[in-house]
Amino acid sequence: MPPSIPTYFRCDPSTLCDNVACCTRPESEPRLLVSDYLRLSELTGEAPEHIWRTKGNVLLTAAEEGFVVVNLGLRHDPCVYLTPEGRCGVYEKRPTTCAGFPFLDNAAEPFLTGTGPTSKNVRKNVSHAYRCLHSIQFSAAQTRAGQELYSLMMEEEEAMLRTFWKGEQPIIPCSTVDDVLGLYLTAHRVQAHRDPKGVDELSNRLHTARPIIQQAPSTIQEQMGGTQQVQQLTFSYINAFEVVVYALYQDDIAEHFAHLDRNARIDFQRFDKERKKILRRLEEDQKQLARLRIIR
Ligand code: SF4
Repeated sequence: MPPSIPTYFRCDPSTLCDNVACCTRPESEPRLLVSDYLRLSELTGEAPEHIWRTKGNVLLTAAEEGFVVVNLGLRHDPCVYLTPEGRCGVYEKRPTTCAGFPFLDNAAEPFLTGTGPTSKNVRKNVSHAYRCLHSIQFSAAQTRAGQELYSLMMEEEEAMLRTFWKGEQPIIPCSTVDDVLGLYLTAHRVQAHRDPKGVDELSNRLHTARPIIQQAPSTIQEQMGGTQQVQQLTFSYINAFEVVVYALYQDDIAEHFAHLDRNARIDFQRFDKERKKILRRLEEDQKQLARLRIIR
């Protein structure tokens, strides 16, 4: 049985952040590793494929020029596991990205790496969403552990997705707008065929996505590494594309979850053990813990 993630950081939404921003804002939607689906399944008793169908989503990442990686995610507007009291309903087995907060959050990256904007600027920029980060100074030990956790997550994601997709469709090449529009129309047809009743909801989502896709520059390559405006457009473009991938691959992903093999579970346990060790080290850093930890 997978072990629980140690709790070294506890949020107090009522006093420390703006309306549990991490759990409610669409832009902070957590990506879920295959192992996160397994862990949630352990806690709730729901089959991973059922969790996927009722609460899952796809997230796309621009991996390298002209390619987009399909990640699994969690519906997040607000998060489906957020209770009416503003608490996490699956706290003890919450997804890795949630458990790793603030160490696996983009907002924390410049703190950890010492790169990018200064800590002061970052704090100002994220202040509306991450007030709890204001007074945090990461210790050297925490910075190291945070970086290790991040690398482990990347390694696990790659390994688990490779096992999950079995080399069938880990990466969707999507280099031009024409490709996206083609997929857009295909998704509509696929969904209409699979679930004629569900097509209205999809039509609405696709309808919203279409103008964004049409505004996008002609290639993803053009968008990479450009100005901030171009980068924002890239994100809109990728977000719009998510609904298409979801329609195309929802059934395939559920099917893969239903047939997760022994190797995937062994991989999961290996990574889970390493992650537990790193999180324990974070927890043992008592001095910084006193600043980081907010006791409910
Ligand atoms: S799983 Fe829990 S911690 Fe993560 S976003 Fe949802 S409610 Fe928040």
